[in-house]
Formats: sequence, structure tokens, C-alpha cells
Amino acid sequence: MTTEIRSALAARLPKLVQPAVTFLTGEPTNSEVPLFRHNSASRIASASFTLILGVSLSVGWTWGGAAFLAVVPIGLLLTTGAMRTLYVGIAHHASHGTVLDTPRANAILGDVISMLLVTLAHDRYQVEHARDHHSPRKLSTQDDPDLRFLIDVCGFDPSRSRAWNWTQLARILTSPRWYATYFLARIRGSITSPTRAVAVTFIQATVFAGLTAATKQPLAWFVGWFIPLVVGFAASAVLQFLSEHRWLAGKPVTIARFLGDAPPNHAVGWVKWLGRAVTVHLAARVAVLVSDLSQHDLHHVMVRSDWANPSFARRDYLLAHPGRLHDAYGSLADHIDATFVAWEILARQATATTPLPQPILSNQSSS
Ligand SMILES: [Zn+2]
Repeated sequence: MTTEIRSALAARLPKLVQPAVTFLTGEPTNSEVPLFRHNSASRIASASFTLILGVSLSVGWTWGGAAFLAVVPIGLLLTTGAMRTLYVGIAHHASHGTVLDTPRANAILGDVISMLLVTLAHDRYQVEHARDHHSPRKLSTQDDPDLRFLIDVCGFDPSRSRAWNWTQLARILTSPRWYATYFLARIRGSITSPTRAVAVTFIQATVFAGLTAATKQPLAWFVGWFIPLVVGFAASAVLQFLSEHRWLAGKPVTIARFLGDAPPNHAVGWVKWLGRAVTVHLAARVAVLVSDLSQHDLHHVMVRSDWANPSFARRDYLLAHPGRLHDAYGSLADHIDATFVAWEILARQATATTPLPQPILSNQSSS
């Protein structure tokens, strides 16, 4: 069932722009028909094309001169988004066995992506994600590997205030040491055998040699590949993980994270609405809430849902099962803030009922 905000946007904006609104928000209307139905092949092709486009835009200054520096930020956003799409979209669903036809084909696909992007090897991903994260017993608890990432790797503390956790987010996003720590963890997760060490080194050396040969500039590799691979990937990961679930905050554990604002009532308001849509929300859609991350709630209800067409799959599920799913509209910052606010409320409640000074999670951690 279409939300009030999406229904209002459908009523107030021309029909021609509705597919763009659906892409941006992550929610179609009840009667909307997709312009194009994706499948696994088209999703892999689209992510690969976006990756090549993003890298090309990021290194265009080596061919076209200083004027092309203006498109470097766009290139970095596209490359980061494509890398994250390949990982949290395609390799993720390959770990559930829903991208290609056989377990072996899914494993090969997952491993190629993990070696290209220096991410968790397919077999480990299956254990940590498909087994542990999806376990109803562990999901959104201190045993959930995704929450452990936020606490152990990123340093967030659910027993602290909203302001403290926002400061922590700013701290890690500006910390070279944090990016290095996270990337080293990725290297350890990807290089799980001598064979993989050779393969990962070969693939990364090939990317370096290819980009350097094509641009005659080793710096092009640093800007076009290394920065999105290490910095963009990490920033995107933490920005999405923070609102992936309602960590520790009870049910519903997962809600859809739609991007966008309610339609305004006056012309000036539309200028602001459009400005936020094509900057704040579009950047979040392209680089952070990629693939089916906005509709992650459907994935946890139905692991084998149509992940290649997630907004329509979620809409159709909800039409068949009214009231089963929940959602929130806002910016990426609003979705993150909801987590920090929920933690602050939980911490206050814990202090009021059980006067323990220790953090809610770290004092229960088993690791
Ligand atoms: Zn999953």
C-alpha cells in the first residue's frame, strides 16, 4: 500500500517523472508498472557499467585537462555506489544463492567480486551473513555480526547519547586510521588462503597497471580506484549499517528506508524540495542506499524475493499482505538519527531500571 507521502507525490507531480520519483524514494505507487524489469544479468551488467563510468569520470582529467576535475566527485560517488552494489547487492544475494542458477556459479560470482573489491570471501560471507545475521535469534542483538561491526570496528556505543554517537560518526569518517583499520580487516577477510592471496594481488595489480597505462598517470589509479575502494566503500558501509536495522530497539526490527520529503504547499517549498532531491537524497541513493537496501525489510521477510526489482517486489508483497511491513521517509541522516535516538532512549530506560554504568552491549559481549 502506497504511503501517504508517495501518494501525495504521485498526485502533485507529473506522471512523466514518477519513475524518477520511484527510483529516488524507493517506493512505487500501487498502480505503477516498471519501465524495465531487471534480472540478475541486467543487474550485474548495470553495476559493471556504472563502475567503469565512475572510474572513467574520476580519471577524465588525465585526458581532458583541468576542466574534468569538476566531474571527479560525481565519478567517485558512482564508483563507490557501483562497488557497494556489487558487494551488498550482487555478492550478498549470491551468498543466499539467488543470483545465478547453481551454488557453484553463485560462489564463483561472489568470489570474483570479493577479490576485485577486497571484501569477505564468499564462503565466509555465507557463514557470517546468511547464517548468523539472518538468524532470528541473533538478528539485531549483540551477536549480530553487523551490529558487532558498528560497535567493534566503528566504536559506536548504544549506551551513550545521540550527540556522542553523532560525534563518533564524524570522528571515524575523518579518521585515516579508521579507514586503514577497516581496509586491513577486509584484506584479512578476503585473503583466506595462499591461492586467494595470489589472485587478489594479481587482480589489484592488473587494475593498477591498466589504469596507469590508459592514463599515463599512477595518480589516476589512486583517485579513480583506491579512494573509492578504501574510503568511499568504508564511508558508505557505515552510513548504511547504522540504519539497516532498528538495532536493539525491538520490533519491527527492520523497516524500509525511503528517501525523500513530503510535497510542500508553496512554490518556494518546491525549489527546496527539488534541491534536496537532486543533491542530498540522490547522493544517498547512488552511493549508500544502493540495490535493495531501501527495501531491506522485505529481504528479511522473504529471502528469495525478487531482489533485482526490489521496490516493486516490496509493493506487491504489501498489496498481498497489508500492514505486514513498515517504513520511514526522510534523508539518510534522518534514518541514522532514528538509530541514535532509539539508543539514547534505551540507555535512559536501562539507567532508570537497572543502574549499571556499563554500556548496554559491551558488558554483554561474548567476543
Ligand atoms: Zn541477506
